[in-house]
Amino acid sequence: MIISSPENNYDIVVVGGGMVGASFAHILSKSLISSCPNILVAEATVPKTDISNQSSFDARSTVLSFGSRQIYESIGLWEEIEEQVCPIFEIQVSDRGRFGSTCLTREEHGVEALGYVVENTDLGIVLNTQLSQSESIAHLAPAIIEKISPKEEGMTLEIVAGENRFEVLAGLVVLADGGHSPICEQLGFEQLKESYNQHAIITNATFELPHQFCAFERFTDTGPLAVLPLREFNGENRCSLVWTVSAEESAEYMKFDDDEFIAKLQNSFGNRLGKVIQVGEKFCYPLSLSLAKEQIRPSLVLLGNVAHTLHPVAGQGLNLALRDIDALVSTLSSAVTQEEPLGDMATLQSYIEEQDFDQQKFIRFTDSLTKLFSSNNQSNVITRQLGLLSLELMPAARKTFAEQAMGLVAR
Ligand SMILES: Cc1cc2nc3c(=O)[nH]c(=O)nc-3n(C[C@H](O)[C@H](O)[C@H](O)COP(=O)(O)OP(=O)(O)OC[C@H]3O[C@@H](n4cnc5c(N)ncnc54)[C@H](O)[C@@H]3O)c2cc1C
Repeated sequence: MIISSPENNYDIVVVGGGMVGASFAHILSKSLISSCPNILVAEATVPKTDISNQSSFDARSTVLSFGSRQIYESIGLWEEIEEQVCPIFEIQVSDRGRFGSTCLTREEHGVEALGYVVENTDLGIVLNTQLSQSESIAHLAPAIIEKISPKEEGMTLEIVAGENRFEVLAGLVVLADGGHSPICEQLGFEQLKESYNQHAIITNATFELPHQFCAFERFTDTGPLAVLPLREFNGENRCSLVWTVSAEESAEYMKFDDDEFIAKLQNSFGNRLGKVIQVGEKFCYPLSLSLAKEQIRPSLVLLGNVAHTLHPVAGQGLNLALRDIDALVSTLSSAVTQEEPLGDMATLQSYIEEQDFDQQKFIRFTDSLTKLFSSNNQSNVITRQLGLLSLELMPAARKTFAEQAMGLVAR
């Protein structure tokens, strides 16, 4: 439900209605239908329900894992999202100019698809439309949370919406305001940061041949290049590219005109999908690993990029955040049933303890893949080739790798 001025009190205020904040609000409200807390989502940009320009829902595409599908399915949202996705039936991993390659298939792993590629704008439209139609979630946008201060009974938030300023009290604040959070700084949260000195160049491309629902992860001299299948549109064979290059090279790549970029891409990717016909507008994202040293305080929890920002090489950032959301919602549900305050430290602590293993595992998995696959020093090249070979030859290694890539976690 879209509102223009908030009430004075909410059980939960979500700061940021991006992919993580909006998903959290939906998953919580749909999981607690009979006793749903009073929820406000405040988002700084104007959310669109047709074509989005919201920062979270930009020109990128996201690979949703099989596990994320199950989470959206459990609240009845998958039906809407499914119309926008392209399933991945096969993943081909190869190292340009060297031996070693492997191919994972859905048949081998007994799943309908290994993952689902959705354009962020399409996911934004689904989530924002649902927010605007929800009876139980108040959606205030554009609205910027300027300040959060702890109070005995929760947190007060200072909100600026156009000409108006509001002060709201929340029993629990869910901070989902992304990787550059002035609020975190204001509250004195420390972040562990490691820059990879890499940028991701993002664009969409059309190819001569259909992708046949295959995703390609190709390790090129400049860094990993992911070519992800997109759903059919206007009869074009569309794919989304995520090309990791060094920070210095990215400036050069961004200056390439379309013909220069196509030539570079064709040379690095080869002819797997025939000729590259066209590329779209290019966008550039600096890449780093950043982890909040604390993710909870009384009446406050950090979710999504503000809690952990990962390199996109393994496509895990949103998928991990969705598993965090799933765990947090089940902890909050128990608190609601037992009539305990939602911002209670013991409640939030049990959420963090439950997710700690999953977070550590996927942060390590992503960080080691990034380092292994972004370097051409001799020992990394050999480890990489042995890795690809063991994936090809050892069923147990393939199973573990595929389960991690599909975001399937044993709890
Ligand atoms: C190139 C690239 C490819 C990726 N591919 C994948 C993938 O395939 N699979 C995957 O799982 N993950 C992927 N990721 C990671 C994924 O994009 C992130 O995990 C996800 O965007 C995190 O969403 P978020 O909502 O936490 O943050 P954001 O997307 O940054 O959203 C934060 C929201 O908060 C709002 N906001 C900020 N400050 C305020 C304020 N003070 N008041 C109100 N609102 C505020 C912003 O406007 C924004 O809408 C990729 C990332 C990159 C860079």
